[in-house]
Amino acid sequence: MDIVLEVCDYYILDKLYAKALPRGGAVDQFIQNSPVIQQVSSKVSQFFPTSAVSGYEPLDNAVFGNGTAAAAASSVANSLNYQFNSTSINAANLPAFLWAKIMSFQSKSDIYGYKPSFLPAGEYFSSSLLARSNLFREALSILAITTLFGWLLYLTVAYLSYVFVFDRRIFNHPRYLKNQMWLEIHRAMTAIPVMVALTNPFFLLELNGFSRLYFDINECTGGWKFVLMQIPMFILFTDCLIYFAHRWLHWPAVYKVLHKPHHKWIVCTPFASHAFHPVDGWIQSLPYHIYPFLFPLHKVLYLGLFTFVNFWTVMIHDGNYMSNDPVVNGTACHTVHHLYFNYNYGQFTTLWDRIGRSYRRPDDSFFIKETDEEREKREWKQQVTQMEEIRNEVEGKVDDREYASS
Ligand SMILES: [Zn+2]
Ligand SMILES: [Zn+2]
Repeated sequence: MDIVLEVCDYYILDKLYAKALPRGGAVDQFIQNSPVIQQVSSKVSQFFPTSAVSGYEPLDNAVFGNGTAAAAASSVANSLNYQFNSTSINAANLPAFLWAKIMSFQSKSDIYGYKPSFLPAGEYFSSSLLARSNLFREALSILAITTLFGWLLYLTVAYLSYVFVFDRRIFNHPRYLKNQMWLEIHRAMTAIPVMVALTNPFFLLELNGFSRLYFDINECTGGWKFVLMQIPMFILFTDCLIYFAHRWLHWPAVYKVLHKPHHKWIVCTPFASHAFHPVDGWIQSLPYHIYPFLFPLHKVLYLGLFTFVNFWTVMIHDGNYMSNDPVVNGTACHTVHHLYFNYNYGQFTTLWDRIGRSYRRPDDSFFIKETDEEREKREWKQQVTQMEEIRNEVEGKVDDREYASS
């Protein structure tokens, strides 16, 4: 995320923040002259003496003196550690000790914003009251960037899929909802900013050096071979965790509150891909964000994988059954999940569904390409009969969906 943020800061945001909240401007003067804010700042930096909290650059300088952020943070951590070990447990220094412990997980050279990494320092690099390293600024920028990127990616990929891949015969399916596609788009567009806001803490931890993301490919970091290995590792790790998260989301009490909105779509269009309750979407995306805190992952590859999973999510909702592979959890498998609820919870592979005995082989009829309306109607009728039986068990007798055909 630091690569993306630095590009955005360099080209757009440095100038925007400099104009909105200039250093030495009215707000800056107010803060400098406000005894209350100064008191709060000094209290906060006393308990949590690191850049991650202070953010505001004059205060950062006060905390770090003339040394680098890295040196200052590690000396603070060391001295507090020493203080704690050499004296009895003292309630007064406990918060600072715990904070220092947390900071010991931080890679000091990976803290974002103190110096430019990929691009030069532009004209407005340090012209704003809110420095690049300010937590509030980071949170705000990330919220804006990832929301816009999320909307753009969702709309572009789903639209391309709708135009070039999607099988529109599904519009005539007896369980296609009235105005379904617009309902899906509305649900996804309103969910994305909330999902992004919930994910923001992970991005902030990354920007402050707590993840195992890295950039340099060399012998110490395992070279290209290790970068390539990260692709199957990431897919297998996230596939496993999403399976269990998804099964938990089908637990009746949780299903009713969080997951039912995504199962409103019995048959899907590509726009159903991100149409979730935001907390549901966030829970299912957690494995992607947890991975780089547990395992080393190349920063550019992470961006690529993040884009890929969004593509994949659209693809498994597009109703175009290209793959009948027994290992890949493709569109046909996910269609089975939307139709029959209790099967195929996986995301990328059928591995965990097979282990968890929830795998259901997609109907052979999914893969017949010729249009035979009569045959299709017969099959849809059979699907509806089976589906209604399971839906009754999962959701109860009342169905509040409004179908286009009714
Ligand atoms: Zn589900
Ligand atoms: Zn789905």
